[in-house]
Amino acid sequence: MKKQVVVIGLGRFGSSVCQELYKMGHEVLAIDSNMERVDANRDHSSHAVIANATDESELKALGVRNFDNAIVAIGDDLQASVLCTLMLKEIGVSKVWVKARDLQHQKILEKVGADRVIQPEYEMGVRVAHHMDSEKIIDYIDLSKDYSIQELTASDKIANRTLAKLNLRERYKIIILAIKRGEDVNIAPVPNDEVQENDVLIVMGHRDDLKRFEEKGI
Ligand code: ATP
Ligand code: ATP
Ligand code: CA
Repeated sequence: MKKQVVVIGLGRFGSSVCQELYKMGHEVLAIDSNMERVDANRDHSSHAVIANATDESELKALGVRNFDNAIVAIGDDLQASVLCTLMLKEIGVSKVWVKARDLQHQKILEKVGADRVIQPEYEMGVRVAHHMDSEKIIDYIDLSKDYSIQELTASDKIANRTLAKLNLRERYKIIILAIKRGEDVNIAPVPNDEVQENDVLIVMGHRDDLKRFEEKGI
């Protein structure tokens, strides 16, 4: 479904969110106070405008109240980021996602009503660390303190065997959510499906069980 999103702050992070959403076909209003940044996004957004996002009347004049989604990507100016978030919530934007520099910034944003706070450098750093820890781990998402979802590459160790035979649920207490093979994704694997070498398995489980599987099982 087509969404209406306003992206405020067109640094590297904001621009990439803006351009990707626009490519997907969503309506994207791109805002920055810097003319060059706005120009750079003109062909990659539905509308790109120069405005001060801490000026409530400017935001209202742009019709921001009609947007259900906003991304605030003003990283370095903490005051502007907090003020803008507060105003977007007051104007009535239902989902406001905000980029934060650090934990302190994150806490303030949560207090003023941000619906989701993202720390790209920190979050990407965690993912890269996991990938470096084990090259089998392609991607990694925390579900909670204890549980996560990982993408792991299958070696010949488990290749050419069915899920039933591998019995990972019993042996490791982990669940295979999907199997990727090249461009194909099997999103509901059944016991008779076979794993091949270099398949990417998307698995869910307790961190400790996943670690055990990654070290001994795959
Ligand atoms: P990057 O993703 O590149 O690391 P960043 O989050 O570190 O970016 P900046 O480099 O500070 O943040 O970029 C934030 C952008 O937000 C800049 O283009 C800046 O012009 C814009 N910006 C800052 N304050 C305002 C404001 N009050 N109104 C509109 N745009 C603003
Ligand atoms: P962030 O992930 O916070 O966005 P960044 O990629 O924007 O960081 P900086 O904030 O410049 O980069 O941080 C780079 C770090 O590298 C700093 O801590 C800096 O002290 C360090 N650094 C820069 N140059 C050198 C150097 N020649 N030798 C050792 N350390 C350096
Ligand atoms: Ca930055």
